[in-house]
Amino acid sequence: MEFKELGKSGRKIPVLGLGTWGIGGFSTRHLGNDDDVRALRLGLDLEMRFIDTAEVYASGHSEEVVAKAVKSQRESVFIATKVSPENLHYDDVIKSCEASLKRLETSFIDLYQVHWPNRSIPVAETMKAMERLVAEGKIRHIGVSNFSVQQIREAQEALSKSTLASNQVEYSLVDRSIEEDLLPHAEKEHITVIAYSPIARGQISKGGRGERWQVLDEIASKYSKTKTQVALNWLITKKPVIAIPKAASLNHVRENAGAAGWQMGEVDHEALNQAFK
Ligand code: NAP
Repeated sequence: MEFKELGKSGRKIPVLGLGTWGIGGFSTRHLGNDDDVRALRLGLDLEMRFIDTAEVYASGHSEEVVAKAVKSQRESVFIATKVSPENLHYDDVIKSCEASLKRLETSFIDLYQVHWPNRSIPVAETMKAMERLVAEGKIRHIGVSNFSVQQIREAQEALSKSTLASNQVEYSLVDRSIEEDLLPHAEKEHITVIAYSPIARGQISKGGRGERWQVLDEIASKYSKTKTQVALNWLITKKPVIAIPKAASLNHVRENAGAAGWQMGEVDHEALNQAFK
């Protein structure tokens, strides 16, 4: 596995992590726990030792499944979770964090992210609570998700002692909207971009008609990789970007892990840039 620095924190994180939307159920609890735990453990064994979850996933059950998977390996796994937009008032942030810590069975969260901005709650209030959590050792780093460049600036200005470490946003070969402003801004300000839905919710593996998919197919066969592996590799080649594909199937976990540890040539990288413009 390769590693990148999280923001300007000095902390190294793997370029591929494990998403968990659907792990533990989609909106409510389900009973497929053991399979979900097995998939996460395999991911950890394959060095994707970054798990992204959220208080809202499966009504908190996803965090409980993460706790089960991590167990005695806590110190060597980077856990990122998120506070929901309706919980961004000062007291609610503290309460949400306490509840996540309990479900995750841990005394600290590595990266605590604001899941979505909420225009009706001043970001300064939220960030004040985040800094208190850092001071208390309950969270190590502060991140956001689905923030625009302007919202990132406002969040950073509201922080007195900390630096915003990351912004989690949708980014894949088929959704490149962040390249317009968020990506260059993140690169300039050393903010890690955590790419969600990095394989377009499984659509990349299915391919499609047209020249772009032909280019992807050709590059995949040139490197003896799958389309999904090439698409993930393309993402993590971008300087500030790490990716968090979600996979409940063990074969998918193995395939995704194989997206790191090799590099495509610049010409092929550029060919993908052009084909999926
Ligand atoms: P994704 O990772 O792009 O795709 C997940 C889907 O692709 C699942 O159906 C999975 O199937 C399938 N899959 C996984 N590996 C595959 C492979 N090698 N070949 C074919 N299909 C494969 O989409 P996502 O779950 O939306 O995004 C990833 C993570 O980002 C989430 O789990 C969540 O942690 C985070 N996220 C955050 C936000 C946010 O607002 N911050 C929004 C969306 C997602 P199986 O599960 O059956 O293996």
